[in-house]
Amino acid sequence: MAAESDMSQYRPRLHAELARARASFAALDADSRSVSAARNNSNVDDEHDPEGTTIASELSQMAVLSRAATTRAAEIQAALERLDAGTYGRCTVCGDPIAVGRLDARPWTAFCIDHATG
Ligand SMILES: [Zn+2]
Repeated sequence: MAAESDMSQYRPRLHAELARARASFAALDADSRSVSAARNNSNVDDEHDPEGTTIASELSQMAVLSRAATTRAAEIQAALERLDAGTYGRCTVCGDPIAVGRLDARPWTAFCIDHATG
């Protein structure tokens, strides 16, 4: 059971990372709403007004970050499920243990270094 208790040390970190991802998503969502509202109020023409282009690229940048936060939250939730299932800390592809240094850096990772996609 030593291995299991070692892995449980990641639980609080995963919860903290999950809260952070959700907070970041909520903040981005609120920001993009207020930018959209400001754009609607100012009646800017996206295609021809340089200011409109800036706002559009700002919104698309926020959309990218907000998708990244959503993806991260899903990865963290999956990691918490693996923790509950007792498979946390093992690569979901080959089943080999994931290096501790890697778990410390990316506690939500589901892959060993050989199967990491990014
Ligand atoms: Zn692997």
